[in-house]
Amino acid sequence: MSLFKELQGRTLYIPQMSYIGARFVAAAFRSLGVNAQPLPDSDARTLELAHKYLSGDECLPEAITLGNFLKIAEMPDYDPDKTAFFLPTSNGPCRYGHYLPLARKVFQNRGDNVLLFSPSSSRGYSDIGSEANDLLRTSWHAVISSDILRKMQLKTRPYEVEKGRTDEVFTRSMDLVGKAIATQGVTHKKRMDKINQALLESRNEFRAIPVDRSQKRVLIGIVGEIFCRLDDFSNNNLLVKIEELGGEVWMSDVSEWVWYTNDEERVRLIRLGKRFSRRMLQCRLRHFILKRDEHRLLKYFSDDFKGYEEPPHVLDLLQRSQPYLPRDGAHGEMVMSAGRTVWYYEKGAAGVIDISPFTCMNGIITEAVYPRLSKDLNGFPIRVLYFDGTQSALHSDLEIFMELARNFRRTEHKAA
Ligand code: SF4
Repeated sequence: MSLFKELQGRTLYIPQMSYIGARFVAAAFRSLGVNAQPLPDSDARTLELAHKYLSGDECLPEAITLGNFLKIAEMPDYDPDKTAFFLPTSNGPCRYGHYLPLARKVFQNRGDNVLLFSPSSSRGYSDIGSEANDLLRTSWHAVISSDILRKMQLKTRPYEVEKGRTDEVFTRSMDLVGKAIATQGVTHKKRMDKINQALLESRNEFRAIPVDRSQKRVLIGIVGEIFCRLDDFSNNNLLVKIEELGGEVWMSDVSEWVWYTNDEERVRLIRLGKRFSRRMLQCRLRHFILKRDEHRLLKYFSDDFKGYEEPPHVLDLLQRSQPYLPRDGAHGEMVMSAGRTVWYYEKGAAGVIDISPFTCMNGIITEAVYPRLSKDLNGFPIRVLYFDGTQSALHSDLEIFMELARNFRRTEHKAA
């Protein structure tokens, strides 16, 4: 039986890598008739539950994901036979590959027959069943839409006249676009038309928010580990704290990671001597479709994102990271973070913060190359901040960093 068929009669819970992302991916599943919901928000109880089962070697995102699964298991109406958790997996040295065995062990030990819905990228997600292509394509629309709304939120909120107004619009937009993504029984074209319409209405609502831009804020680029940078609980609400200290945040999109993994597949096929193969054709075709869909979903936002343009191709980032962390010798988020840091500098940011879970290899390695990168960029402030789920004394570190960023803007970008 395909993985998708096994979901019948169960509620599928989606981990909240980001608040909006989980809601939109759940909507993508609902478009195919699956009863999908986001996992609950993370809090102290999440970690308390997870720590009953952890050895101490796990990274923060792993602890949070497990803890939120366990939160479902303590709900009064929890029925393991009607529950499924979404947990994609991958191979490689990162602890992401450990999430599934750990969750499986924990629920087996509890004697719970929950389903861990874990399609594998190494098999091209063929284990999902005949719904795989539809699910992946609608999920892509979900990713792009969530990136767009997050960007609108981050570029508007610091300048709002009435506190809380942007978040209100963000929540309304999320419901509107989520409903469009969840539309069942229509072609991709029809669903995209609905999503576009919802995005257009959302854009107009964002544009109508009264703002005061007379004082330009310092623009801070955010890079780093994808879960920790997107999840407010994991990063101690860092983005809001930056705004409170006079900053404006620009964060790397989730779609950037999708472009990177696609391009990694292309390079891997070339290394295997399969430059002219069926797999390569599929890879290129996928790139073409994803690009075209992205272009369509962004069509109403070109004016809003002036000055916040994303690199035209992931190779633009990889090229920028090449002198520091070349893709042949380093992999994953660290490569993207280094390239993205240069991109932010070129786009006029006043500093970059790399958000990293404590003990994650990505932050440890980028921290080693940032001094050289900063020197090459005329002293551009770059700082790695580590998070382990405890309330660390973030405020003073952040205050110092923001002061450095303000000084940098005064000297470097003013002089340019
Ligand atoms: S990148 Fe780091 S924090 Fe993220 S899953 Fe891997 S080991 Fe954990």
